[in-house]
Amino acid sequence: MSRKPVLPGQVMASGQLATLGVMGGGQLGRMFVQAAQEMGYFTAVLDADPASPAGLVSHYHIQTPYEDEQGLAQLMQRCEAITTEFENVPAPALMTLGAHRPVAPAAQAVAVAQDRIAEKAHFVACAQAGGVGPAPYAAIDSEALLKAVPADLLPGILKTARLGYDGKGQIRVQDRAALAAAWEQMGRVPCVLEKRLPLKDELSVIVARGADGQIVHFPPQRNLHRDGILAVTEVFEGNLPAALAQQAVASTRAIAEQLQYVGVLCVEYFIVDDGSAEGALVVNEMAPRPHNSGHYTLNACDVSQFELQVRAMAGLPLVQPRQHSPAIMLNLLGDLWFDAEGKARTPDWAAVLALPGTHLHLYGKLDARAGRKMGHLNITAATVEQVRATARQAAALLGIAPWA
Ligand code: ATP
Ligand code: MG
Repeated sequence: MSRKPVLPGQVMASGQLATLGVMGGGQLGRMFVQAAQEMGYFTAVLDADPASPAGLVSHYHIQTPYEDEQGLAQLMQRCEAITTEFENVPAPALMTLGAHRPVAPAAQAVAVAQDRIAEKAHFVACAQAGGVGPAPYAAIDSEALLKAVPADLLPGILKTARLGYDGKGQIRVQDRAALAAAWEQMGRVPCVLEKRLPLKDELSVIVARGADGQIVHFPPQRNLHRDGILAVTEVFEGNLPAALAQQAVASTRAIAEQLQYVGVLCVEYFIVDDGSAEGALVVNEMAPRPHNSGHYTLNACDVSQFELQVRAMAGLPLVQPRQHSPAIMLNLLGDLWFDAEGKARTPDWAAVLALPGTHLHLYGKLDARAGRKMGHLNITAATVEQVRATARQAAALLGIAPWA
């Protein structure tokens, strides 16, 4: 299905410039807003927080909860098309918006990504069609299912079906007793138990799909997590075994295709140590939006993930992105805003920015807290050796621990 695009700079019947809206005001919304504004759109953000990173830079900021009827009505009235930056935006709110305006991704697709049980079922269906399968798992939403968990899923990780992020809503369990206690601790909400796998590496693939079915993709990103939070992303020739990288791209495109997805989609994968030299690919989860692991595209690619989000939702043509520089992204967590004694400080940006090919992105958050995503640093260079060397120098200056 194709539709008439919302053109940048178009003057609408209301007398206003064409406006794109986003549900959620976090950093992903902020970078979306910035990309839309660069192209000439007006923007509107719906987020209750008056200091939200996206609200601070948007033409319009509607400060209501996601399900507030008046807030949603205002957003629809202002905007020609609407997207989301946060997968926990209630699907019914997106459904309401979708009845009146083009919404990308659609509520049904977001609903699948919001629920690990539905998400895994989608992955299993894709795997049956020749794609990459998830880790062995069992859904748990009753005492009976808890008891019926196969022994070979232990040791495992119990994850809440809904509302988990950055490793929150997860408990590692060794045995049945620990599993029962963990489910109790989760408040007996629907969960999945996943077998704990020996990971060699982690990666993600970002695709964008248009309403006309066209799909484009970024090269696979190699991701390093610390304490369940993304710490470092590396994207350059040779960052991952080529065959697995290719397989991950094909799998991600199929996952988007089979959801009839419109917008930017990120799928995370594990490379599991299965005894083979390269390891085997396992699909972990998906995010129905731009992703932290795609922030390097702002400086290392000719089209960023946020520009593709704008294009997809506005019904503009998508183009296959070209990465022009090897890239490393360092996530800047609130921990860096404190010295060894716990005293507040501002990281020495002047020293970091003295390194060639460093690009600082801060999200406008006032309160630094441990584990809070305050910004990211992209590093680009002409060669892989150079980007690695600069990233390690920047990390050392900032107090980010070295990685392999
Ligand atoms: P996100 O911030 O990506 O949304 P999340 O809270 O949804 O994170 P997951 O991506 O499921 O959580 O898991 C976080 C991290 O925990 C993974 O990136 C991986 O390092 C580790 N992990 C998760 N599941 C497994 C598993 N089955 N076996 C081994 N390690 C795992
Ligand atoms: Mg994850």
